[in-house]
Amino acid sequence: MTDLQAPADVTTITVRNPADGSVAGSVPVDDAGTVAAKARALREAQPQWEALGVTGRAHWLLTMQGWLLDNAEHLADVLQSETGKPRTEASIEAPLCADLLKYWARNAAKFLADRHPAAHSPLMKVKRLTTVYHPYPVVGLIIPWNFPLLNIALDGVAPLAAGAAVLLKPSEVTPLSAVEFARGWAEIGAPPVLSLTTGYADTGAAVIAHSDCVHFTGSTATGRKVAVACAERLIPYSLELGGKDPAIVLADADLDRAAAGIAWGGMFNAGQVCVSTERVYVEAPVYDEFVAKLTDEVAKLRQGQDDDRYRFDVGALATSAQRDIVARHVEDAVAAGARVTTGGRTTGVGTFFQPTVLADVDQSMACIREETFGPTLPVVKVADEDEAVRLANDSDYGLSASVWTADLARGERIARRLEAGAVNLNDVLSNGFSFALPMPGWKHSGIGSRHGGADGILKYCRPQAITAPRMPTQKREINWYPYSRGKTRIFSGVIRFAAAQGRRRLGLTPRD
Ligand code: NDP
Repeated sequence: MTDLQAPADVTTITVRNPADGSVAGSVPVDDAGTVAAKARALREAQPQWEALGVTGRAHWLLTMQGWLLDNAEHLADVLQSETGKPRTEASIEAPLCADLLKYWARNAAKFLADRHPAAHSPLMKVKRLTTVYHPYPVVGLIIPWNFPLLNIALDGVAPLAAGAAVLLKPSEVTPLSAVEFARGWAEIGAPPVLSLTTGYADTGAAVIAHSDCVHFTGSTATGRKVAVACAERLIPYSLELGGKDPAIVLADADLDRAAAGIAWGGMFNAGQVCVSTERVYVEAPVYDEFVAKLTDEVAKLRQGQDDDRYRFDVGALATSAQRDIVARHVEDAVAAGARVTTGGRTTGVGTFFQPTVLADVDQSMACIREETFGPTLPVVKVADEDEAVRLANDSDYGLSASVWTADLARGERIARRLEAGAVNLNDVLSNGFSFALPMPGWKHSGIGSRHGGADGILKYCRPQAITAPRMPTQKREINWYPYSRGKTRIFSGVIRFAAAQGRRRLGLTPRD
């Protein structure tokens, strides 16, 4: 949890299932010295990992892919035990991790290959130009509790594929899936370049102190602290932070699909997704009909502590603090005049909060302004497309958005006006499953982006430029010592000829 420091005498974290409070397991609290020792061990192992080359590393990534798929049922058990997710949602994390391992294993060679850019000027044609990519030795990876397994692969596979070692710090709320991932990496016999460290915020701070590059996923408030800590050390970082994703429903949309899609986009993982739909703007002519359909979809959802019989659609919230935020947003909205059309309350069991639709919401309410990260869908009536775009953009966040319309050309025009890192037309979340696309956060939703082809792996690398002569060299170059008037004339004249356009190439002005 944000800024949660370990009490001085606590050396163990007891992990509980939020659905019923039962103990799911425990992990140690690593102090700064332990984190430093783990980083040192990674630093020792990393050069051999890098030396394995992209193909050698791909072998281990694909072996890990097999391990995840072979152990998928057990991993789903562990995920459920520490998150209270429904079985279906727990079951998709291992296959998605496998897909990421395959993507980076298959594509890393192409993305990391040396580049030989064309010279920008005729003067540089005498050189062979090469860009080489070297991994940062140790990448710190700090992840939250919403996808305890998937978050490891989302941001941990690319650095491994690049040849970096990874120091992984999961949330103290859900460290058990990371324990399994690290166990799998050791069990397949892969080189020791993935190290797990567990603990509270102090442990996370120690990870930053001993890494060469950091990726953080979590809240905007903690992301800002991570950015400051990285800036102090002058190390690069990327941040995948909160969101407040809008859905825009136009009057010509297929309202059945929009209602079903937005219900899933808002309730998936009990709304605890950075790219969850958290605000819905609906054109006035179809507002009532859409609210009725959305209410119907959400009211049908089955909520409870799922076993492996796939009985439930919506699970528990990860923490009681998270449940309390959701409750506050709903209470504030109702007090300000919003109408609960379904749900609206805690269930009284564990950390469950009923899947909720709020109608007659306005832009000033906390449920629109702040990240909720829970199973609520506030719906706002708008006059037209322009008002929808204006209100959608009226947010500190800019992670993703969706537009629902029968006219895809119009939808794309609207998408380009939205201040968001991704826009899905007539769908939700689909950009997140398209690894060839970048997943960037605009505004307070992040810095840098994950995935997106070569960019997603090169961010874990230091580029290096190498120049080499293409032809036999002289004893000395004209721009070397000693300087003289004559040499300067020739030298600057040649640069001018290459740099300028038209008559200025010859030292003339356009009017001469
Ligand atoms: P945080 O952002 O506080 O935690 C994310 C990770 O950062 C955890 O591993 C946490 O460790 C670690 N951490 C906390 N403080 C520091 C620090 N000073 N230096 C380094 N690492 C640190 O998320 P919360 O769990 O508190 O959730 C709060 C809110 O964040 C939610 O209500 C939600 O709005 C948003 N959120 C967004 C997510 C996203 O995907 N964008 C995911 C989860 C939450 P530890 O847990 O051990 O303290």
